[in-house]
Amino acid sequence: MPRYDIEQWEKETAEIEIRRWLDQIGQWAPDVEMDRLQLREGEPLSGALNRNEIDQVLHAEIIGRIGCFAEGKPYVVPIVYAYDGKAIYGHSGDGMKVRMMRQNPYVCFQVEHVDSLTNWRSVIVWGHFEELHGDAAEQALQLLVNRLKFRLDQEPFLAAHTADRVLQRDTVTYRIVLEKRTGRFEQQAG
Ligand SMILES: Cc1cc2nc3c(=O)[nH]c(=O)nc-3n(C[C@H](O)[C@H](O)[C@H](O)COP(=O)(O)OP(=O)(O)OC[C@H]3O[C@@H](n4cnc5c(N)ncnc54)[C@H](O)[C@@H]3O)c2cc1C
Repeated sequence: MPRYDIEQWEKETAEIEIRRWLDQIGQWAPDVEMDRLQLREGEPLSGALNRNEIDQVLHAEIIGRIGCFAEGKPYVVPIVYAYDGKAIYGHSGDGMKVRMMRQNPYVCFQVEHVDSLTNWRSVIVWGHFEELHGDAAEQALQLLVNRLKFRLDQEPFLAAHTADRVLQRDTVTYRIVLEKRTGRFEQQAG
């Protein structure tokens, strides 16, 4: 294919992706030639989640993974969390992840909702670890208890546990105050 055609193809492909994204966020321009969007029917759509969609994923899920880095070593570890729109709240024993986050408070956190390998939403956020004490810790634990109770009621596979059992009181309570958020999705058309 001559160079010009490749560039043209790339431009058109990018334009189609942008229009699909506008459609996803309800900002579709009415004069768009809809037939061009049928070019890839049957293939999964993919793209970026907007801020509202990112928040929806963070609010809806309860399990995410903290990524931290200290003394030249990365560490990724699953946790139960709650989200209040500004920060991720968690609790933990005084183990490796807490020691690493105390050393280097800048951490990454990832959550996904997976319906299938072609229908998923994934969020990655970055923020600063802060240990909580006193009233702030109590409020964070209450947020976690409320969140867990809600999900435990909804999901029979978790029913063997109670929120109080999951959340031991003699733990470190913390939050990750979010500074940057990104989200991606894939959605099977049709
Ligand atoms: C779905 C889910 C939810 C969880 N929720 C929480 C939570 O809310 N709070 C919480 O504190 N913990 C939670 N855990 C357990 C958590 O993943 C860690 O195992 C635990 O917190 C100990 O982590 P630590 O860094 O303190 O490890 P330490 O007890 O200090 O042990 C460190 C060593 O154990 C290994 N290790 C630790 N955890 C894991 C793991 N999950 N898989 C493989 N190797 C591991 C490390 O690689 C390292 O070598 C959850 C686990 C799962 C699967």
